[in-house]
Amino acid sequence: ELVKDEDLEILSDLGAGNGGTVTKVWNKKRNCVMARKLILVDAKPSVRKQILRELQIMNDCNSPYIVGYYGCFPVDVHVGIVIELMDAGSLNDIYRQNGPVHIEVVGKIAEAVLHGLIYLYDVHRIIHRDIKPSNILANTNGEIKICDFGVSGELINSIANTFVGTSTYMSPERIQGAPYTIKSDVWSLGISLIELALGRFPFTDSQGNEEFSEDDDDDDDDGVQHDPDATLPLNTQKPNLNIEKDKKEKKEKRKSKGVSLAGGGHTMSILDLLQHIVNEPAPKLYSKKRSFPQNSVVFIEDCLYKDPNQRKSPQDLLATDWIANSKVTQDDLKAWALSTIGKD
Ligand code: ADP
Ligand code: MG
Repeated sequence: ELVKDEDLEILSDLGAGNGGTVTKVWNKKRNCVMARKLILVDAKPSVRKQILRELQIMNDCNSPYIVGYYGCFPVDVHVGIVIELMDAGSLNDIYRQNGPVHIEVVGKIAEAVLHGLIYLYDVHRIIHRDIKPSNILANTNGEIKICDFGVSGELINSIANTFVGTSTYMSPERIQGAPYTIKSDVWSLGISLIELALGRFPFTDSQGNEEFSEDDDDDDDDGVQHDPDATLPLNTQKPNLNIEKDKKEKKEKRKSKGVSLAGGGHTMSILDLLQHIVNEPAPKLYSKKRSFPQNSVVFIEDCLYKDPNQRKSPQDLLATDWIANSKVTQDDLKAWALSTIGKD
């Protein structure tokens, strides 16, 4: 029933991320295309077996908002996972190639992600832990689904032991070491939605430079590009429980960024960004170039309360104006997805 590695023929690369590469494959047995993800797992055979066992939970995850699962197996030093091919790719790919996503479509993306999160939590008690535009996928049938959720504790551990993906979609409380809750996913959703609507990561300006609060008047354009998916070596990744709020010190650090500590200036800028997320007001859905409907602005605010207790739950967010009164149909989404891949 489950797909095996020998059923698959490699077609083309779909992308690569933290510790994973994704390939489009042809399934000879079933005569259809699928996506195969290889994750480097540097662990003992017993741990690998445990991971493969834990991944079987994905077999029970059946929802129109969750990318389908077909099987997993060991591939030398990797764990291979075969999933549904989403032919319009990730929303990260889509906005980088096509620019900002229309706010009405962003609303439908929000709705799909919320349904996916609620399904995972209510049915399987799973918290996603890695909501970001590259883990939200679309197809030309107008469907939007989430992938790469934390099903396997062992897999999360073993990736953490090699590299920690310092995702800057992380909520302030997570950065400060609090455990994951579904509210952390809501924060990550809010950041992702701003990114899609603006066509850029919300903590950077249009040149890709970091954007700090208004007190930040020095215009030393050092051209440091922030990669929201950059990784940090584990030893710099201890949850920072006592983040210094002294702005003078922060400024000093920024000034010294060009002559960086850990080589490259990149590591430094990520730490700055994590401090920024913890200490400064949350980003808003706002652009000088475009205006957005008030109910979408309010929705994003509801996702981005820094206090997780104030932040709305996925159920409450589904009931908001913006989501409940959307006029966008599945056909509209189909047309949109087709337009992003430039075919019909
Ligand atoms: P990340 O999510 O950090 O980008 P991944 O290894 O999970 O890293 O995925 C790499 C890329 O592969 C994604 O950004 C996306 O473009 C592509 N991808 C992943 N899964 C699929 C899929 N099921 N269908 C189509 N493209 C996919
Ligand atoms: Mg991914």
